[in-house]
Amino acid sequence: MLESQLIIFDCDGVLVDTEPLTNRVLAACITEAGWAVDSAYSIAHFKGRNLADILADVEAELGKELPDLLDAYRKRMYEEIHQFGVPAIDGIHELLDALDAMGDDAPHRCIGTNAPLKKAKLTLGGSGLMDRFAHRDDPGKKTMFSAYEVGQWKPEPGLFLHAAAQMGHEPESCIVVEDSAAGVIAAVAAGMRVIGLADLTPADELLNAGATRVVESHHELVAELIES
Ligand SMILES: [Mg+2]
Repeated sequence: MLESQLIIFDCDGVLVDTEPLTNRVLAACITEAGWAVDSAYSIAHFKGRNLADILADVEAELGKELPDLLDAYRKRMYEEIHQFGVPAIDGIHELLDALDAMGDDAPHRCIGTNAPLKKAKLTLGGSGLMDRFAHRDDPGKKTMFSAYEVGQWKPEPGLFLHAAAQMGHEPESCIVVEDSAAGVIAAVAAGMRVIGLADLTPADELLNAGATRVVESHHELVAELIES
């Protein structure tokens, strides 16, 4: 599998376990705005999507504009991340260890996230992952890319295409690791292979979105990427 030269990791749900916290906060804010939804609904319908599109859905449901909803969500989300922190996804450090052990044969790696860089850096720093994405050949090179920099969010392909170009790779030599259907669709649209990490989003949903393969954990991904 490692004829691939660049692995692009999604952040939330692939590197850091932010989804339970963020969906709980988002559901609470939407409920306070007048539409009673819970975390499970938020995970099923909003996970991996652009906040502007989610806001449009909520405004359509309630039939009114909600100019303060996203600011309220972001404020509370950052407060809770600061207060509680978020853990690394189980097995990600072992996967990165295995890639490091390959030395110069290891593929390059980078991060492509729909989230703002501020949020990604905060959560990655708190889970010990921030330093693990230094460029293999050029430690000063940027390896974290946000949809906010590109102005295009998954499921659109622009972010992944931007990340690949910045890292110096063609789309066909990239593998994307994604936990949401929106991210899988974006990777397929970018012409990249994509491994679905099934957890909160079921495996069949990731396969239906176009995932090349689906694994249940990073432990399984080590075998998929390195040992096969
Ligand atoms: Mg994700």
